[in-house]
Amino acid sequence: MTPEQQQQFRESFPILQRQVHDKPLIYLDNAATTQKPEAVLRAVEDYYRETNSNVHRGVHHLSQLATEAYEQARKTVQQFLNTRHPHEIVFTRGTTEAINLVAHGFGKSILQEGDEIICSIMEHHSNIVPWQLAGAGQSPNIRVIPMHENGEFDMEAYERLFSGKTKIVAVTQASNVLGTITPLKEIIRIAHSHGVPVLVDGAQGVKSCITDVQELDCDFYCFSGHKIYAPMGIGVLYGKEKMLEALPPYQGGGDMIRHVGFDRTTFNDLPFKFEAGTPNVAGAIGLQAALEFVRLYGHENLIKYESELTAYATQKLMQEDRIRIIGNAPEKAAVVSFLMEPHHPTDVGTLIDFMGIAVRTGHHCCQPLMDSLGIPGTVRASFAAYNTFEEVDRLVESLRTARKMLG
Ligand code: PLP
Repeated sequence: MTPEQQQQFRESFPILQRQVHDKPLIYLDNAATTQKPEAVLRAVEDYYRETNSNVHRGVHHLSQLATEAYEQARKTVQQFLNTRHPHEIVFTRGTTEAINLVAHGFGKSILQEGDEIICSIMEHHSNIVPWQLAGAGQSPNIRVIPMHENGEFDMEAYERLFSGKTKIVAVTQASNVLGTITPLKEIIRIAHSHGVPVLVDGAQGVKSCITDVQELDCDFYCFSGHKIYAPMGIGVLYGKEKMLEALPPYQGGGDMIRHVGFDRTTFNDLPFKFEAGTPNVAGAIGLQAALEFVRLYGHENLIKYESELTAYATQKLMQEDRIRIIGNAPEKAAVVSFLMEPHHPTDVGTLIDFMGIAVRTGHHCCQPLMDSLGIPGTVRASFAAYNTFEEVDRLVESLRTARKMLG
């Protein structure tokens, strides 16, 4: 991106004009959620002003327009992930619901007592707890891929985790704490050589990686719209047609049925079998607008700029006294976690908030990872393409001020 393009990109986000504690907002909490550009805000508002109606069940004009817009959004996601069919895209509330949907289906129809699933030490709670809840009786045994000191997967240890009882590998595309981008192609190749399917948690990877699900050959891929400039409350589950066909419905209700009787109900085709009730139509339309906005600037260009910003932030923080970066994998998403020793991350985050700087502190929903690192949490600065190098400088200055105040 040229500096002019970057500035234009930044100016598309109205919230970045606001002040916090009488200081210009520096928003570095993008791994938690990204801000929304004007194009997304407008798409959602236009939908409610001009088209609002329920989908799939109406013969009237507005209902048909709403249905077309909703299904067009599905096609946009299909193109974005390069799925074979649009019906392999299921709209959900987000990554969490998508993983719960798959875990519930596995629990009902596949997992037996004593079965195993593989996930990694750096998984978000959303990719651990649904698997613990799955299964009719005892939850499946979770076998954990360990990591090297720099935050990369230990792939030799991964290979040794497979047994005749392994039913699925569920791994993240990028760690929301360490930033590590995981070697998905290799992970998937190894799992498939054991006849085991793979679910990818794309919550962090969706913005930081170009994802082609057919090239990856993953069996499931989940992401949340709000992590890539779309509204909250809309997300996606991609599943290979035959995998989705094999799973039972997640929730019952309208739209997911073909015929309902008191003695027996038959279910609708994909993807509607998994979309019970009135969907988030405005959210899907907002997601489409967000993906088109990303395409306008070029997803590769945005990723490249974010990588430069992340490298700059890492280098600046490393020059500071007693700042320890947590996670040094060679390939990273736009996330820098660190400790300002000896201070608690919450104290640091609270102080710099008063200087207008929004970072996240704590365990970031990755308690097993924190336990393995022996730390209570980190300070996490995470970037989007609207952030600037000057904002990184301001972050570093604010940390110096915070250190003086903390003594
Ligand atoms: N997985 C990862 C790696 C995440 O970072 C997050 C959110 O931070 C999630 C899953 C859950 O996403 P959501 O809360 O949007 O469902």
